[in-house]
Amino acid sequence: MTTDDLLARHKAVLPGWQLLYYDEPIEIVSGSGRRVTDAKGRSYLDFFGGVLTNMLGYDIPEVREAVERQLRTGVVHTSTLYLIRSQVELAEKIARLSGIPDPRVFFTNSGSEANEAALMFATNYRRSNQILAIRNSYHGRTYATVGITGNRAWSASGLSPLSVSYLHSGDRMRGLLAGLDDERHIEAAVADLREVVATTTSGTVAALIAEPIQGVGGFVRAPDGLFAAYRKVLDEYGVLFISDEVQTGWGRTGDHFWGYQAQGVIPDLLTFAKGIGNGLALAGVVGRAEIVESVQGISFSTFGGNPLSTAGGNAVVDYLLEHDLQANAREVGRLLVDGLAEATRRYPIVGDVRGRGLMLAVEFVEPGGTNPNSYATARVFEECRRGGLLVGKGGLYGNTLRIGPPLTLTADEAREGLEILTTAIAEVDREVAEV
Ligand code: PMP
Repeated sequence: MTTDDLLARHKAVLPGWQLLYYDEPIEIVSGSGRRVTDAKGRSYLDFFGGVLTNMLGYDIPEVREAVERQLRTGVVHTSTLYLIRSQVELAEKIARLSGIPDPRVFFTNSGSEANEAALMFATNYRRSNQILAIRNSYHGRTYATVGITGNRAWSASGLSPLSVSYLHSGDRMRGLLAGLDDERHIEAAVADLREVVATTTSGTVAALIAEPIQGVGGFVRAPDGLFAAYRKVLDEYGVLFISDEVQTGWGRTGDHFWGYQAQGVIPDLLTFAKGIGNGLALAGVVGRAEIVESVQGISFSTFGGNPLSTAGGNAVVDYLLEHDLQANAREVGRLLVDGLAEATRRYPIVGDVRGRGLMLAVEFVEPGGTNPNSYATARVFEECRRGGLLVGKGGLYGNTLRIGPPLTLTADEAREGLEILTTAIAEVDREVAEV
């Protein structure tokens, strides 16, 4: 079956809204290190890792062997009704790393489900279905998580079982907080929180949920310390704080292991997914025992914390810590972001180059202003692919390139990707100037 045949069959049987990247979608058939190969035999340097999912890269022997060892036992999984050694071991590691006092870990199969569980714990504990979320956020594709996603493009049904109020936060380019320095940004955002709680809720709010750096939203970062300032207001009302670390966790941001640490605040609940499985379905929530154990009657998850995923997850966490990938993310990330800023400064379509560790973004604008330029973004995105580099796209207006390579990225690979990126940006800038 050719890639074209596969595409035709995909379109005929899967929902029309299931997004495929690229004008000519690609089928990835193998991978090694930071490179993948498609069904047509083309090789790509991967700066997106399947939406920050392949945190260690591809074909990592330690992870493969851990999963193979489990498969060889003859038991892929039975159920969580029986003791699972790798589940307990991984929960202990995550509990210790989480920084949350008296932690309990509940495993799920996806980030959406992890956020769903966190919402259930928080709403039950607080006996309230009122939630505060951030504009331009993304938290998942289940009923409740779609309802707290502050981005029209991903808010499928527009309906929610929760009562949700959205806050301004993090956006320095547009909206209420545009152009403010960090101190004034924090002041204005906290005033917004105060007003939203006082005017749109009963005062009994369950939780504020936030991504320390918005992922799908285009790597938009709240100023350091904003969540600590939020916390003062939240504490007045007894509101819990949920940190969605699905993209920002595990040292990706370089300076910190969790995104919340840059914010000077410890969350009540933390959700994780993606990178921890390095491609395996593994996610979950860590929270204070008092909150997690306030619910009764969940009792069971068929696949959450299954031996295959948690065997892999243990190998991923061990590898991550043994190789100090957080330090690598910090160093190689610095090289990449400085290189990108330097190389693209002269192009009027580049509105912003930003990021921390290996979570970097380039935002494209109409030359001479801040209006989003989704056309240039899409063109650069396609040009990168042609040049042999996979990156991501995102942002409320689809005008941001997202760069989230495996945390094992080498300095040479960073320079190689940088070259492809800057060539693509130069090409598109020239095109735009000619129109
Ligand atoms: N939270 C964040 C911050 C995410 O980026 C995502 C996925 N893009 C999710 C939650 C949902 O995770 P999943 O796709 O595994 O359900």
